[in-house]
Amino acid sequence: MALTGLEIYKQMPKKNCGECGVPTCLAFAMALASGKAALDSCPYVTEAARENLDSAAAPPIKAIKFGKDSVLGDETVLFRHDKTFYHPTTLLISVSDTLSDDELNAKIEEIKGLEFERVGLQYSIDGVAVVQESGDAARFAKVAAVVAEATDKSLLLLSSDPEAMKAALAPLASRKPLIGAATADNYEAMVNLGKENSVPVIIKADGLDALEELVVKAQALGYKEFVLDPGSRTPVDTLANLTHIRRLAIKKKFRPLGFPVIAYTSKTEPMEEIMEASVYVAKYASAVVLKTSKKAHLLPLMTLKQNIYTDPQKPIQVEPKLHSVGNVDENSPFYITTNFSLTYYSVEGEVETSKIPSYILPIDTDGTSVLTAYAAGKFEPEKIVEAMNACGIADKVKHRNIIIPGYVAVISGKLSELSGWKTIVGPRESSGIVSFSKSLT
Ligand code: SF4
Repeated sequence: MALTGLEIYKQMPKKNCGECGVPTCLAFAMALASGKAALDSCPYVTEAARENLDSAAAPPIKAIKFGKDSVLGDETVLFRHDKTFYHPTTLLISVSDTLSDDELNAKIEEIKGLEFERVGLQYSIDGVAVVQESGDAARFAKVAAVVAEATDKSLLLLSSDPEAMKAALAPLASRKPLIGAATADNYEAMVNLGKENSVPVIIKADGLDALEELVVKAQALGYKEFVLDPGSRTPVDTLANLTHIRRLAIKKKFRPLGFPVIAYTSKTEPMEEIMEASVYVAKYASAVVLKTSKKAHLLPLMTLKQNIYTDPQKPIQVEPKLHSVGNVDENSPFYITTNFSLTYYSVEGEVETSKIPSYILPIDTDGTSVLTAYAAGKFEPEKIVEAMNACGIADKVKHRNIIIPGYVAVISGKLSELSGWKTIVGPRESSGIVSFSKSLT
C-alpha cells in the first residue's frame, strides 16, 4: 500500500530549502506520494528514511532499460497534460528468421535508412525485433547475430523456445537485448536466462488476471526486470488492456502490473498498421513491434511520437539568433517570427520555397507561437528591437525593412517608431510567404 503525503512528510528532513524544485518539504512529500517527484531530488534524505520510503518512492511503472539506450516505462501520469510523458515509445521493426540471406540483408539496409529530421531534431527507429518463426534454433541465432553485427540498434529476441533463446543470447548478452516471451509453459527457464544474463524479459499471458498471476510467479524467482505482454493481438483488445494496465499502475499503484507494456501490430496493410501502431503509441505502449520498414510509412508515426512525447511545458525551440536561408546579401529580405520550432520551420520552409535568400530572426518567446506570444507580452516591439540590435542585422542589409507576421500587424506602428525601420506586414500564415515574397521583388 502506498504511503500518503503526510506519512512521507514525517520522514523528510524539513529543511524547506527548495533544492528539490518545490518550495517546501511538505509540497515535495505530496508530489512524491502522487508519483510526480523522485526521492533522489532531495539530497538530504537519510538512509533510514530512504529505506522506509522505498515503496512510496518507487515509480508506479518500473523503468526497464535495454539495448543501445532504450528506456521503457517510468511514467507517472495518465495524461500528458497532467505533467509530461518521459520515455518515448520504443519502435522496433520485426525481422523473421525465415527470411533468405538476401532478403535479410535488404531488410537490414532498409532499417538502417530509417533516419528522420523534423523541426530541427534528428530521429531514427529504435530497434530490431528478431523473431523465431523457422523452428530452427541455429537459424534464429544466426539471424540475430547478423542483425547485431549490421546495426547498433536495440535488439529484441523473440522465441518461445528457451534453448533457442539461450543459443541466440549467449554471444549477444553484452548488447543487453530484451528477450521474450516468458509464458506459463516456459517462464522458469526464460526468467532464469534473463536473470543470468542481466537482460529484461517479456512476460506474456492471455488477459490481465493470468498476466498478474504469471508476474507474481516470475518475481518469486528473484527477478523483476520485466516488460508485460497481455497477449491480445487485435487493436480493440490491446487498447483496452494497455489502458487498464496503465490505470491500475498509476491510479492504484498495483505493483504486479507496474511494468512497461509491449504491443505488436496485427494489421498487414501498411496504412492500417501505422494507424494501429499510432493507437498504441498514444495509449500506452512503451514499445511497439511493427512489420513495415518503409520510411514513408513510418514518418507519420515518428511525428506522432515526437508530438506526444514533447514536454508540454517545454515546447521545442530554435535558437533565437539570426538565421540565413540561401545565399543572403545586403538586399535580402528580413523576416521576424518566434522561436517556437513548428512556427520557425514553417516560415523557413516557405522562405526556402520562395527561392529568395532571406534573413529570419526568431524572437525568444519561450517557444510559443506568434499569437500566443503576443497575448503573453512576449512579442513586443521593444523586445524585437533589442533582438535586432543584438544580432547586428543593420550591418548585414542596406535596406531598412522588417517583415512581421500578419497576425501582429497591430505592433507595426510602434515597431517602426522604436527601430527607425519600415515595418512591412507579412501574411498571417506562413503558407502565404511564397506569394507575398513576389511582391518584394
Ligand atoms: Fe525539503 Fe529536501 Fe526539498 Fe529541501 S530538497 S525542501 S529538504 S524535500
